[in-house]
Amino acid sequence: MTKQCATYLEDWFKNRAGIPLAAPLKRADIEDHQLKQLNETLMYASHHSPFYKNRLNPDQMNLKSLADHSRLPFTTEEDLRHNSLQILSTSQNDVSRVVTLQTSGTTHDPKRLYFTEQDLAGTLVFFHHVMSHLFMSGQRMLILLPGSTPDSLGDLLSRALKMMGARGIIHGLPENPQAALEAAIRYKTELVIGLPTDVLSMARHSDSLQKFKGLIKKVVLCSDYIPDTLVNTIKQLWHCEVFEHYGMTEMGYGGGIQCSVHEGYHLREADLFFEIVDPETGHTLTNGESGEVVFTTLTQRGMPLIRYRTGDISRLIPEPCPCGSIFQRLDKVMGRINGALKIGINQFIFISDLDEIIFRISGIQNYEATIERDNGHDCLILSVYTDAYSPADITTRVKNAVLEIPAIHKAISAKLLQLKTVALSAVARQTQQPAKRKIIERYGNGELQ
Ligand SMILES: [Zn+2]
Repeated sequence: MTKQCATYLEDWFKNRAGIPLAAPLKRADIEDHQLKQLNETLMYASHHSPFYKNRLNPDQMNLKSLADHSRLPFTTEEDLRHNSLQILSTSQNDVSRVVTLQTSGTTHDPKRLYFTEQDLAGTLVFFHHVMSHLFMSGQRMLILLPGSTPDSLGDLLSRALKMMGARGIIHGLPENPQAALEAAIRYKTELVIGLPTDVLSMARHSDSLQKFKGLIKKVVLCSDYIPDTLVNTIKQLWHCEVFEHYGMTEMGYGGGIQCSVHEGYHLREADLFFEIVDPETGHTLTNGESGEVVFTTLTQRGMPLIRYRTGDISRLIPEPCPCGSIFQRLDKVMGRINGALKIGINQFIFISDLDEIIFRISGIQNYEATIERDNGHDCLILSVYTDAYSPADITTRVKNAVLEIPAIHKAISAKLLQLKTVALSAVARQTQQPAKRKIIERYGNGELQ
């Protein structure tokens, strides 16, 4: 809890809000900025986006307090899928980057997101300040994220590092852990950023311990739910510090990052306003209560989003952070609202239940979970990815471990669920996008949900 830890976001905020660097920053300054930017965003969106022009009432335009924000209508993922061009608030000529997000394992339409040069510059500045907290000038970071096109996530990170005299090595989403390890060794990278399962695969690779120990000092995990078991495994194998980042493309990539206390993500409050709502009623919950994470963009010009429902479950931590930062913290994301799948008689499982159990088993680099439903006969198929050095009885180990999950144990005992485990050697990556993992649901006719 260095001074740097408490102040690096303050410097960034002052820069964004036009407050002199020497002036002390109070919580009230952050909230005043958010209220001003919320009103500005409402005005901007209602004038420039056909979608919000229809959606917002003129009497909702002038918020007197942050609490008034809860009167505004939500924006959903479905709105994005079906109305992205209506939400777009600038001419297509001013769009610098379009991101198309296809959810893996579903037949839904893709989501399309539009960013202007100004939007991307805002993300770049946020990354720069976050990285300056983690990094020292002259260090190198291996970036295991897409970065081959201008303004992609990896490209923005690399440019943010360059601004502080550090270097980002853009590797892209790794085809296999061996190649990522070789790149880290070749470039002597002391930091790695990537998807949780990609970094775990590297850490568990047999070459990792022999050639890699002591090289990696810090790891940043992002773009997916991050199981505690996985974080602890990486820390133990590499003796490094692991930082978790929370964000989604809809936020302009960055949302919040852990400080050195590692309890919750300090939020990107100059650019985003966060709240937690009851997923059933939509009512805003008080700090400390768990519910769905909802955010409003405060500075986006291409595609402002008002009360966007993320589907993530978490809570705002009411206690001040021991690091001394006045920026609000979002607790670890516990899973997705629609991530629960029914099995047996009113039993539910989440991918997070499986993660915590399966990633604990040594030799597992990644896995996929599918539930096949066929006329009342459900089968949970777990395909685990291992390397050549994994124990021969790995499928039995996975089966026994998963039976510890009460919902699965009950459904199998009641003969309402079958369990199959398949061991596969790691295969080339199917998708070139960082997608959130989920349990895939498949019906007898092959239809995906
Ligand atoms: Zn902190």
